[in-house]
Amino acid sequence: MSVALCLQNISRHYIKDGKNFTAVSSVDLEVKSGEFLTFLGPSGCGKTTTLRMIAGFETPSSGEILLDGENITSVPANERQMGFVFQNYALFPHMKIFDNVAYGLKIRGESKDTIKKKVHEALAMVGLENAEGNYPNQLSGGEQQRVALARVLVLRPKIILMDEPLSNLDAKLRLHMRTEIRRIQKDLSLTCLYVTHDQKEALTMSDRIMVMQRGHIEQLGTPFDLYDDPASAFVADFIGQANLIPGILESKDGDFGIFSVGERRVRARLGKQNPPEIGKDALLVVRPENLSFAQGTENSLPVKLVNRLFEGDRIDYRFKIKNFTDTVYSMGVSFLPGMPILEEGKELEATFVPQAGVIIKK
Ligand code: ADP
Ligand code: MG
Repeated sequence: MSVALCLQNISRHYIKDGKNFTAVSSVDLEVKSGEFLTFLGPSGCGKTTTLRMIAGFETPSSGEILLDGENITSVPANERQMGFVFQNYALFPHMKIFDNVAYGLKIRGESKDTIKKKVHEALAMVGLENAEGNYPNQLSGGEQQRVALARVLVLRPKIILMDEPLSNLDAKLRLHMRTEIRRIQKDLSLTCLYVTHDQKEALTMSDRIMVMQRGHIEQLGTPFDLYDDPASAFVADFIGQANLIPGILESKDGDFGIFSVGERRVRARLGKQNPPEIGKDALLVVRPENLSFAQGTENSLPVKLVNRLFEGDRIDYRFKIKNFTDTVYSMGVSFLPGMPILEEGKELEATFVPQAGVIIKK
């Protein structure tokens, strides 16, 4: 795949509350043609600012933006051939769907016949070919968001930029629209940059995810990479759930390490993104769903149950590691009717297979 968009050492500073504030810090990124890439991170981490600099609504304080190899850093937004889909779909309420989608083409001065053909095509792409005579308020929220997408698609942009496009929709519709947007993107081989703070949305939709925190990139990789080999405690905890158990890496054995937690030693995979060093403080990342209770097995830690939360499909057992810190960790056990439920205060062993734990630098 060729590179469609390239960010080279992009930063953006603001004056905030009278002080110099860095909203985006030295971001380097190559987006491949046809790729669906998501910016993921907590509120305020710089996702929107990065997207707006790519769109041309905001100017970088330093760094360069290349589109198909051409430097566009100072090209105005309307000449960048990018389509922006906003959180609030911003359709014109007094215009029919056809005219909403045709709007950009009319401004471009395209002929009536061409406009008609292109609008029909764009509405067909989003599955709304029968809605062109309706007004926006006659459509559901999801349908309106699809019209907003059609309005951008009709202009054949080189890249589509979407900033939290689903956050105004109710939970069920949001799930449905994830697959809809991904389907349209794949069908048309669109290059798509997508912003969300919802890790599930990012995991299910993206080819790659750029995790951001306080303006910088924490990790860039496929959803699987981020889950399997997190580069930091922040990523481990932000993508899915994770127990972060502090300890020391005692020794290495190929791809695995021996890790001491208090008096105990356990075996786990060595992180590749952020490899730990022997004799140094490190973190064992182990997901709640990869832990189970056992008696007298290997690769286990002595624990005491603090409480349990019944979540329907699983039980979330909260526990402390014995003779260790006061931190409460979590184990998710799939619930099967008839299974024994463990009581608070019970002392037992929590075990995991070495492949399911990963040791990273602290
Ligand atoms: P996100 O989209 O990840 O929630 P933003 O990119 O919108 O975050 O904002 C990143 C940070 O930059 C925030 O702390 C925000 O307050 C600040 N910021 C954004 N725009 C401006 C501005 N025009 N002036 C001052 N600060 C801004
Ligand atoms: Mg934002």
